[in-house]
Amino acid sequence: MINKVDHIGVAVRSIEKALPFYKETLGMKVLGTETVDSQQVKVAFIVSGETKIELLEAQNEDSPISKFIEKRGEGIHHVAYSVANIEESIKELTEQGIELIDKKPRVGAGGAMIAFLHPKSSHGVLTELCEKQKGGEHHEF
Ligand code: ZN
Repeated sequence: MINKVDHIGVAVRSIEKALPFYKETLGMKVLGTETVDSQQVKVAFIVSGETKIELLEAQNEDSPISKFIEKRGEGIHHVAYSVANIEESIKELTEQGIELIDKKPRVGAGGAMIAFLHPKSSHGVLTELCEKQKGGEHHEF
């Protein structure tokens, strides 16, 4: 079902403050930032080769990222796996008794179709499935 890890989501208080670490210190490349209103987050994608990190900053206090940071502080928020067919994957997982937060795929950052599994069903790791739109990768901003 899984092709590879697509990205790792990291919750930060401020993308602006976190970026220099990834850019200057680690020498990674910033693909761009965008807002995902459905999740009330601002995201920045950072890459180095095949490795991609998604920084997540809350847009307001109702955002799931605000709640996450309130409880646990900044840190790894989720692991996203790339799948070829997200509808199929959701169906297969549901049949296997896996609980999903998103029973239907929705549009995430970069226009990808995404769905989250419930951490209860994935041993404490918030897990995202991610199907890239045809034509692919995140557009360069
Ligand atoms: Zn993600």
